[in-house]
Amino acid sequence: MRTIDDLDVRGKRVLVRADLNVPLDDGGASAASDAVPESGGAGGRPPAVTRRITDDGRIRASLPTIDALRERGAKVIVCAHLGRPKGEVKPEFSLAPVARRLGELLGTEVAFASDVVGESASRIAGQLADGQVALLENLRFEPGETSKDDAERGAFADRLAALAELYVGDGFGAVHRKHASVYDVPRRLPHAAGGLIATEVGVLKRLTENVERPYAVVLGGSKVSDKLGVIDNLLGKADRILIGGGMVFTFLKAQGHEVGRSLLEEDQLDTVTEYLARAEKAGVEFVLPVDIVAATAFAADADHDVVPADAIPADRMGLDIGPASGRLFAERLAGARTVFWNGPMGVFEMEPFSHGTRAIAQGLIDSGAFTVVGGGDSAAAVRTLGFDEAAFSHISTGGGASLEYLEGKTLPGLSALED
Ligand code: ADP
Ligand code: MG
Repeated sequence: MRTIDDLDVRGKRVLVRADLNVPLDDGGASAASDAVPESGGAGGRPPAVTRRITDDGRIRASLPTIDALRERGAKVIVCAHLGRPKGEVKPEFSLAPVARRLGELLGTEVAFASDVVGESASRIAGQLADGQVALLENLRFEPGETSKDDAERGAFADRLAALAELYVGDGFGAVHRKHASVYDVPRRLPHAAGGLIATEVGVLKRLTENVERPYAVVLGGSKVSDKLGVIDNLLGKADRILIGGGMVFTFLKAQGHEVGRSLLEEDQLDTVTEYLARAEKAGVEFVLPVDIVAATAFAADADHDVVPADAIPADRMGLDIGPASGRLFAERLAGARTVFWNGPMGVFEMEPFSHGTRAIAQGLIDSGAFTVVGGGDSAAAVRTLGFDEAAFSHISTGGGASLEYLEGKTLPGLSALED
């Protein structure tokens, strides 16, 4: 894969596909005072900003490549998506707050185009001086970006590619998508991988080729159905798999325990049962929680108790792994040389149910292993719970992308960069 070192970018317009899909609050009156409307940079007229970024990790992760291109005298045109506006212009999904934050972090003005490939984008792209940066409006305001129809996607890719002379793919969080900005544009312009993608791919290789053993994987999050592919693949690769989060209850139920009102995917019971059997055959250790924090409701102020994992009361829902499980999991991580973690252990967004996730994060740090955290919510959890990001070997910016890589799939955005 070519990197930006292999491109001569000086004086050239370089389209950078970044992943700036950050979590935002829901805006509203309380947020508005803190969110200053955009200046509009070189002439863009963005909508007034009312939503605030709650975690800017992905913006920060995009800085090194943008900075490197600026230093080399490129005219940098950044494009990215935010949320799922489904091909329509929806102001609540505007990238305007991201343009502002990106400018603050870069320490330079970021011109914000109020459209993706329209009049504003062309004008701003045309006016950039060497070393300047612009951000286009949300790619997913355009139906062509995510279209399954090759011709429709291609037509949009043509317009996007026309804004620039070179393409740098750096949106790792989107490389598993066959989208115009990820897959079709690099087939139309000379291209290279940005630093973030190069780093992410390097880390994923360490998790798939010549893994240092023991290799432990911690999986959590809300739905087991999101993670079936990765469990399937890891059954042949990992030495031990620790399960937490909402998916635990499908496993507990498969073992014959009642799970009350906890998250349960009945339609996955057979698959999960089969995984447990296969793991036993393959000598892969499955570690399930021994206790659960069971609450009366899905609310931060709900009554809750720690109960044995095989005795969840019928009127309770499990919202976190319990303290004994936290200790057990940390102990099972202690001897590992490589650890991959995806998915929070509980509803960490609510303080009473954040302790399991905290225990696992600490367990990773204390293990001294090569530790990789993957997944948008997991990465956000690490930061919002106050952990030092540098204490982990790598925090991936792409949940779905890293999972699909670990599933052994070909990622469209990576294959397009390799060609
Ligand atoms: P990631 O983005 O890291 O891949 P997921 O998106 O799979 O993680 O899951 C994150 C979500 O899982 C969090 O919002 C968290 O609240 C939720 N979650 C974790 N444990 C539970 C649980 N026991 N019940 C319901 N939701 C849960
Ligand atoms: Mg998530």
